[in-house]
Amino acid sequence: MVRYVYDFTEGGRDMAGLLGGKGANLAEMTGLGLPVPEGFIVTTEACRAFLATGGEPEGMSREVSRHLSTLEAAAGRRLGQPDDPLLLSVRSGARFSMPGMMETVLDIGLNDASVVGLAKASGSERFAWDSYRRLVQMFGSTVMGVDAELFEQAMTRLKERRGAPDDLRLDASDLAKLVETYKNLIHVVTGDYFPQSPAEQLRRAVLAVFRSWNGERARLYRRREHIPDHLGTAVSVQRMVFGNLGPDSGSGVAFTRDPATGRSGLYGDYLSNAQGEDVVAGIRNTVPLAELERLDAASYGQLRDHMQTLENHYRDLCDIEFTIERGTLWMLQTRVGKRTAEAAFAIAAELVDEGLITPDEGLSRVSGDGLARLMFPRFDTSATGNPLAHGLPASPGAAAGAAVFDSAEAVRRAGAGEKVVLVRQETTPDDLPGMVAAQAVLTSRGGKTSHAAVVARGMGKVCVCGAEELTVDVEARRFTTRDGTVVEEGTVVSVDGSAGAVYPGAAPLVDSAVMRYLETGERGERSTQVVDAVARALQQADGTRRLEVRANADTPEDAARARRFGAQGVGLCRTEHMFLGERRKLVEQMILADDGAHRQRALDALLPLQRQDFVGILEAMDGLPVTIRLLDPPLHEFLPDRTELAVRIATAEAHGDRPDPHDTELIDAVNRMHEENPMLGLRGVRLGLVVPGLVAMQVRAIAEAVVQRKRAGGTPEAEIMVPLVGAVEELRIEREEVERVLAEVSAESGVPVTCPVGTMIELPRAALKAGRIAEQAEFFSFGTNDLTQTTWGFSRDDVEAAFFSAYLDKGVFAASPFETIDREGVGRLVGIAVAEGRAARPDLTIGVCGEHGGDPESVHFFHTAGLDYVSCSPFRVPVARLEAGRAAL
Ligand code: PEP
Ligand code: MG
Repeated sequence: MVRYVYDFTEGGRDMAGLLGGKGANLAEMTGLGLPVPEGFIVTTEACRAFLATGGEPEGMSREVSRHLSTLEAAAGRRLGQPDDPLLLSVRSGARFSMPGMMETVLDIGLNDASVVGLAKASGSERFAWDSYRRLVQMFGSTVMGVDAELFEQAMTRLKERRGAPDDLRLDASDLAKLVETYKNLIHVVTGDYFPQSPAEQLRRAVLAVFRSWNGERARLYRRREHIPDHLGTAVSVQRMVFGNLGPDSGSGVAFTRDPATGRSGLYGDYLSNAQGEDVVAGIRNTVPLAELERLDAASYGQLRDHMQTLENHYRDLCDIEFTIERGTLWMLQTRVGKRTAEAAFAIAAELVDEGLITPDEGLSRVSGDGLARLMFPRFDTSATGNPLAHGLPASPGAAAGAAVFDSAEAVRRAGAGEKVVLVRQETTPDDLPGMVAAQAVLTSRGGKTSHAAVVARGMGKVCVCGAEELTVDVEARRFTTRDGTVVEEGTVVSVDGSAGAVYPGAAPLVDSAVMRYLETGERGERSTQVVDAVARALQQADGTRRLEVRANADTPEDAARARRFGAQGVGLCRTEHMFLGERRKLVEQMILADDGAHRQRALDALLPLQRQDFVGILEAMDGLPVTIRLLDPPLHEFLPDRTELAVRIATAEAHGDRPDPHDTELIDAVNRMHEENPMLGLRGVRLGLVVPGLVAMQVRAIAEAVVQRKRAGGTPEAEIMVPLVGAVEELRIEREEVERVLAEVSAESGVPVTCPVGTMIELPRAALKAGRIAEQAEFFSFGTNDLTQTTWGFSRDDVEAAFFSAYLDKGVFAASPFETIDREGVGRLVGIAVAEGRAARPDLTIGVCGEHGGDPESVHFFHTAGLDYVSCSPFRVPVARLEAGRAAL
């Protein structure tokens, strides 16, 4: 029999899949003996069943009633009891936190009778009617589907009539009238009445939270965070406690360490006489948590102790939400807190030092994506001039863009390629698309735990919040600074999320300290906490990983940089890049040659140039392997564009001139070589087999470079790689040619040159025939760019623009398979090739050099698939080192 409801006393944090993160942690806190108001959780399984059928799962409501009775017994009151009602909150809670993306209904249990009881029991009529007003409003919009704006308008009209600047000035009878207005509104819009039955309120609220799993906001958030759509949300139902019962009450959000920098010490925001929602919404400005010590020393002391308990128990940064009801502290939520990349590294190092976690656990707490973020530049503050305003440094980094004042405009401009900064008084979940589109977020209100701050940190987006010096006028699309400077929409501003400052114009950037360390190995004079923490994490990763990390580098400079970043060789040197620029002319001559002698002359002219490139790279990577790939792209890529040539010829003819004979010769060649699908055409190994002399020239250049380096006392480790092989016979023929030239150069120079010869595995057929191909290959390197292209039949040059966003929207895949390896399809081919290749040749070296080599999730896959190395762009090398270490944990 499936069970759909669990009491807080029954679960624990290891049940997050079933109870959702929030529910599981509430249960964990209950188990720890912390003061958590009683409650129960309706499982994600119930949600999945509901979403699948559209109907309430069989038996769920009976279970809810049973748990409600237990709760009522514990609380000593019944739900909606007329003289002293028990009230409930109904909140979403998915496996992975999705802050503010789903629905919440508070104050369930109030109706026309119990509101009077609540007024008596609490001693405050105003409080009771305000709670009822909140319930009708939330229930009306969330459960009954009335546009939330209509409630806001009714509230605004009433405030205007009363001349009240904010809702705190509305008294009990105003609020009672507002409740009537809201109820009428619901009736007019829906034809249905606000339900007076507390049980019905509860039942419908739970289903509404389930439904909100598929709301637009939630879906967008999941897509961005790669959270699977099928998980569903749990619902926690909990006895309400009230932070808005007077000055001895309040609500707050707190972290056991600073989530922006990782510095230790309690940290958070508190709002007296307020509900938790008011804190997170950033609607009123909060005070720092330290202030609570002055306001209510006893509660502060308890809070500090509970937070210590939580940090020791979870052995990690925890964030919590709490409420103080008339001097009694209640813990309403905890979770392992989101943090910036900087804080993640700093906290991991500190927790290791404090002995709370092992160095391996420390490594598991940081990520390659985080490291990549820390490698970004920041503003050069010596050149920024005076800030326009200061705010709270909510999410670090530096970004500039045109100020925009609403989400839609941010999306519109970003879609047109413009960089934008989203400026708001505060953000709400509705602003999410704009936050995604923006480079940075700037708000004039709200603390470091406001919606803007929390969401921006989660996305790694630059954010300054609570910049109170700014007056943001969304209607007029501008903001005004304290000294009267007006910044209109479209004006570029720079946001420094590390310092909490906003500058006019596009401020100049300086490199990050982490980048400087990675490039030079020097920690700088003032070695910062984060640089030390990064150094330690990388050291730990290097000591742990099995995968080697090489770099894709085509120039000596790139190779040298990659080596400084820790690359253990070059996994892909694309020689076509050496056919560009000045050398195009020689390539043209090679293509246009009408006989072998002319062609050889062109090849002979290219030879020393290629040789010199290889000498430089082999020198930069001396002692480490350098995998040089023979020419891959179709030759016509090195010829001028067909249309351009045609226009040039036509223009000459139109002027009565004779077209340049070189142009006519070229266009003939272009026409002759034209292919409808060049990616599937004359490229890779096929070129080597049909263009005489090409392979010989390239191999000679490599071999002579090796000789030159050896004569100079170096240890060159060149490897020769053949691209786009599909059949072993292709490789066998090409290999013969390679070996012939290597032997020739060895004999001529008297210096023995032996280079391992291997192939790329980048066609499905190659993967499927890997056992045979391995007979001719000393190494394999997966070209997962082409392998993805040819496995899916997606053109790698077109699809991203053409239809990937629709595919991502429709959930065909959660991430582009060109970015993150498609484990089930392309990954399966990789698995087959590894197994069959190694079976045929046990000492086969296997790597990957497609873009996936630097993608964290893919690195984990390659580790599991048993590869020997990943190769990625130089800047991703530290990221790959870190992730290779994490993969081996
Ligand atoms: C690949 O196909 O994955 C690869 C590395 O080669 P290229 O990107 O040069 O086609
Ligand atoms: Mg390729």
